[in-house]
Amino acid sequence: MIRTAIEHYLQKQQQERISPKAVLFDMDGVLFDSMVFHARAWQEIAEKHHLRSVPEDFFLFEGMTGGNTINELFLRTRQREATAEEKESIYNEKAALFNQYNDGEPMPGALEVLEKVKAFELKRVLVTGSGQRSLLEKLEHTYPGFFEKERMVTSYDVRFGKPHPEPYLIGLEKGGVQPHEAIVVENAPMGVQSAVAAHIFTIAVNTGPLADQVLLDAGANLLYPDMNALAKDWEAIMTAFSEI
Ligand code: MG
Repeated sequence: MIRTAIEHYLQKQQQERISPKAVLFDMDGVLFDSMVFHARAWQEIAEKHHLRSVPEDFFLFEGMTGGNTINELFLRTRQREATAEEKESIYNEKAALFNQYNDGEPMPGALEVLEKVKAFELKRVLVTGSGQRSLLEKLEHTYPGFFEKERMVTSYDVRFGKPHPEPYLIGLEKGGVQPHEAIVVENAPMGVQSAVAAHIFTIAVNTGPLADQVLLDAGANLLYPDMNALAKDWEAIMTAFSEI
């Protein structure tokens, strides 16, 4: 299955081989078990502002900037875009609620994946749509020594956000690598779309409530049910890269 996935990627991207030098990690739903808190905060804020939504929306929207998410809800409910002021004030309310709910729990298995990535001497790059201040402190606290300030892409670095390829293109730049020298680990359909559009081999971990097919349809090259399963297969994936 791994070999087939790699061959499929190489054929589609017209590449000879994948020579990994960096792994680009999404954050929420990959490194932190935080998506339920984001979804809950969004759902409550949407209800408060009479914006139409169902809980699943926020797992489908995951990866988009807060402003784009609010726009989407406005277009659907009020048939117009949100103003800059509306975006800012609603996003601030959502962020406050998220901070109140979030328990900061790491994603089970994420540390194991990071340790293997480090053991293979691959650089770690963070590519998140999140705009939380103190992100680096939070990462350093949970995953000390795995990430550096210079290798982080957050909402402050991007104009479009996922599913546009921009965040992962900036991630490649910050990692100093080409698409065929990188691997992405993502949990969100739009994050997968963004990484695939940036021509990077993309591993999806389905840590949320969506169907596997949603991530496969978004273009994921490999799919795992969680980070523990990915950690277990890491050597096999690296071996397959070196043998093809
Ligand atoms: Mg995510």
